[in-house]
Amino acid sequence: MLFTALVLIIISNFTSLSFSSALFAFVSAACGLAWASAPLAKEREQNAKVARSKTAKRKNEKIIWEQLIESIPDPVFILGPQNKLLYANEQAKNIFNIKRLGVGISAIIRTPKLLEAIDAVTESKEKKKIQLVERTPIERQFTVNIAWLAREDKSDPTILVHFRDLTEQERLNRMRADFIANASHELRTPIASLLGFVETLQGPAKNDEAAREKFLGIMAVQGRRMTNLVDDLLSLSRVEMNAHKIPNEKVNLVTLLHNTMDSLTPLAEQQNIKLEFEEPEEEFVAIGEEDELSQVFQNLVHNAIKYGKSDGEGYVRLFLAHIKRDKNKQEQIKVIVEDNGIGIASHHIPRLTERFYRADIEQSREKGGTGLGLAITKHIITRHRGELKVNSRKGHGSIFSVLLPKA
Ligand code: ADP
Repeated sequence: MLFTALVLIIISNFTSLSFSSALFAFVSAACGLAWASAPLAKEREQNAKVARSKTAKRKNEKIIWEQLIESIPDPVFILGPQNKLLYANEQAKNIFNIKRLGVGISAIIRTPKLLEAIDAVTESKEKKKIQLVERTPIERQFTVNIAWLAREDKSDPTILVHFRDLTEQERLNRMRADFIANASHELRTPIASLLGFVETLQGPAKNDEAAREKFLGIMAVQGRRMTNLVDDLLSLSRVEMNAHKIPNEKVNLVTLLHNTMDSLTPLAEQQNIKLEFEEPEEEFVAIGEEDELSQVFQNLVHNAIKYGKSDGEGYVRLFLAHIKRDKNKQEQIKVIVEDNGIGIASHHIPRLTERFYRADIEQSREKGGTGLGLAITKHIITRHRGELKVNSRKGHGSIFSVLLPKA
């Protein structure tokens, strides 16, 4: 208002118009100006509207592509200009320990092979696939797909880097190959020994009565060894085939352990080892499958005898206990198989349930072992949603504990 009055005074002073004429002239000029600038304001408003809708569209697109990338189960990066990290999904952040965006890719992955491949894609705008081994933080193997993304302006994404983690698949392939190699090796040794004795008996020892008796004895042992191995391999494959089915029978563990002890008494007597199982008055009923649980305790008690104390002081003891849990958790039964035998050095313990792993290969072979017993045992217990724990010290015996769900 003050400003308008000032303008009018200035106009009337400088143009010798009366104040009312000046007022008229000012209003006309202002209206003219407003009339002339109306389309300009409209255009400006329209431009702002277009810009707003463009920004909204870009925001929306960003949300969609971020969600898309987040939904991919593999690690994925999006690189912006100068190969700066524009986006990394949760998997990528976890695997490559990414704390913030905006840094150059070379600060995250230093492997020259990947950086060169990204440069090549930037140049050629053609997608590329490479194999990558990352050694830190842990060794991982990837197939990496790098793709150029067309863009409208510089702030848009430019390159997508998709990692397919092959570590687990490679580990399984290696395990399968190792398993076949180990099984073949285990069978080849007794077969070679059998064939050797057959040749000797057909040739040089043809008429040697004493040698024949001795060799036939060894051949019987080797034959039994092969049978044990084939039996264990079949058990393992059967257990693996049923791995996804949870057993649901009720198994009376007192009866089952009693039968296990009975069937192994002759072997224990042969080794001069005392089997002790004081049957509890209480009931111990687990959820499980009787044949499989029987195999678990046969394996554990058999091992306790095989690797038991051989000076006449040896014993194998069995105990049962109920383990109480919180309201929501399943109650469990604990079965303990304890011996005072040769024991196991601590560095072997974590690997005992691996197929063909033995603390002492020669000793195991000598005792008719296959190295598969504890692998089968572990598989069965896992299928029962149970747990196997090993406590042992070399020279001081072992305690194998099995936890099973209570019925
Ligand atoms: P094996 O057929 O060789 O006995 P297992 O899978 O049953 O194979 O056991 C793996 C290894 O664990 C054995 O070779 C042995 O070295 C060790 N082991 C298992 N049970 C006992 C035990 N009670 N006392 C000492 N060592 C044991």
